[in-house]
Amino acid sequence: MLEQTMVEPTDLTDREPRVNILMVDDRPENLLVLEAILQDLGQNLVKAYSGEEALKQLLHQDFAAILLDVQMPGMDGFETAELIRGRGRSQQTPIIFITAINKSETHVFQGYSLGAVDYLFKPVVPDILRSKVAVFVELFKKKQALEQEIAERQRVELELRQTHSELERRVAERTAGLATANKALQAEVAERQRAEERLRFLAEAGRLLGTSLDYETILRNLAKLVLPDLADWCVIDILTEEGMFSRVAAAHVDPQREEWVREVANLADSPAIQRVLTQGKAGLLEDMKIGGSSCLAVPLVVREQIRGVITLGAAEYGMAELELAEALAQRAALAVDNAWLYREAQEAVQIRDQFLSIASHELKTPLTVLHGYASLLERRIGQTGVITERDQRALHVIYEQAERLNRLIELLLDISRIETGQLSIERARMDLCALMARLIDEIQPSLEKHTVRLISACEQLDIEGDELRLEQVFQNLLRNAVKYSPEGGEVTIRVEQHEGRISVGISDQGIGIPAESLPHLFTRFYRAKNVSAQLIGGLGLGLHIVKEIVALHGGEVEVFSHEEQGSTFTVHLPTRPG
Ligand code: ADP
Repeated sequence: MLEQTMVEPTDLTDREPRVNILMVDDRPENLLVLEAILQDLGQNLVKAYSGEEALKQLLHQDFAAILLDVQMPGMDGFETAELIRGRGRSQQTPIIFITAINKSETHVFQGYSLGAVDYLFKPVVPDILRSKVAVFVELFKKKQALEQEIAERQRVELELRQTHSELERRVAERTAGLATANKALQAEVAERQRAEERLRFLAEAGRLLGTSLDYETILRNLAKLVLPDLADWCVIDILTEEGMFSRVAAAHVDPQREEWVREVANLADSPAIQRVLTQGKAGLLEDMKIGGSSCLAVPLVVREQIRGVITLGAAEYGMAELELAEALAQRAALAVDNAWLYREAQEAVQIRDQFLSIASHELKTPLTVLHGYASLLERRIGQTGVITERDQRALHVIYEQAERLNRLIELLLDISRIETGQLSIERARMDLCALMARLIDEIQPSLEKHTVRLISACEQLDIEGDELRLEQVFQNLLRNAVKYSPEGGEVTIRVEQHEGRISVGISDQGIGIPAESLPHLFTRFYRAKNVSAQLIGGLGLGLHIVKEIVALHGGEVEVFSHEEQGSTFTVHLPTRPG
């Protein structure tokens, strides 16, 4: 049985928390007495009727003092005290033994040795008991307050420590953040500086590259420009018309090694550079070392066509150099393009001037003849009033020369139609064999030293074509065959048909065409190198027009010739338009 008495404090304003006082006695009446004495203290009075009960109480709560009866059945007061002292929590709780008055001093001594703080004899004197317990209550409260204060301090200290470490963490975080930001800033500044230097370099390069209109000078300037910032040495190879690489520029930081760079052979043909060229953009040549240097190659791309390659060598290369080299190559390509355009423009002007002088000569010759014969006729018919046989020949010459003039003017008109995209054909079914036969019949009578012969069986070959224009094509080729074989000889025509196309080959035994002129033959105004020596006139327009007309028919013209061994021009036409 356990009881707890809550005694209201006399002073209601006193809100101090109550403390527990444990009273242990096997006799309820004794406990009531103790309760009566102590209730004025206004604390929690907890009753226990045996040592075991007292120990249970002590397990759950703290007590300011224990009033312990010595004589109890079963576990007596001393045993109880001994067990209390053995427990951690209540070790320090003051014990006041209460015992019968006739006990010996040994008894008292035993009580003190078990940690009693006092020893009272029954019947207890209320005031003494109350004031003693009040002292312990006070002490307990002070102890509690002190413990609270210590706990509070510890809490505050812990909080402070936590705040402190939190602050430290934040400071560390900030410091780290600042360091990172600082690093990033430094990197950005360095990057900007590099970008500025790069821009300056490129601006200077642009200026320098623009100072010449000769592409070789431009490329030589470029090779020097990259030294020493971008390369220890540089070579530039340009694709020739024959598709070979030819070295246009070579430079080395060490002038004594210039010779070596010039001799660095076959760079452009190496598989590493070929790879770069196939990709069409700058590349590091990782598997290639030349003279101990790392290399990078940049294709020179002019109007989307690879026209050369710039190869640079230095101790080490990275992406930054690669990008810079590419930007530089782009500027160089622009400058080279300009130079080429300038050269083309100059050549065009030269061709135009040449053409004007040839054209005026070509036009003037028949005009002079026309003029001479016309005035001769005028005079003679004026004098005699009759037309003699001689006059008729003169009239024929006038007709021929007027025809020649007409043809020249037609040529010029056709050229202008080609230029403006207005040359067109009107297809109709026509017989090619009949056309060739008619052409031979027409031309043969005017020839003295030549014979024109159809050497293949040709009875009827129908195609869809523009008869007038095709007549112009074959007339032109036949006239050329005659014109460019001044010694005379045979002009043969071979007509063949196979696999959906018809080929007409016109061969002569004339002056032939030099190999280097063959690729340019169909370019307007172009005349082969050997014609001027032979004093054979012409405007260099006929073949250009022939090619255009044949192309409009979906066909092509092929030429086979050796100088001084004659030529064969073959026109291939599809039997049916595509
Ligand atoms: P033109 O004969 O007025 O010069 P073409 O365009 O007809 O112009 O011919 C271009 C050039 O091709 C000629 O100047 C000449 O050099 C060459 N050529 C054309 N046909 C022949 C040929 N049958 N034999 C040799 N050279 C030829």
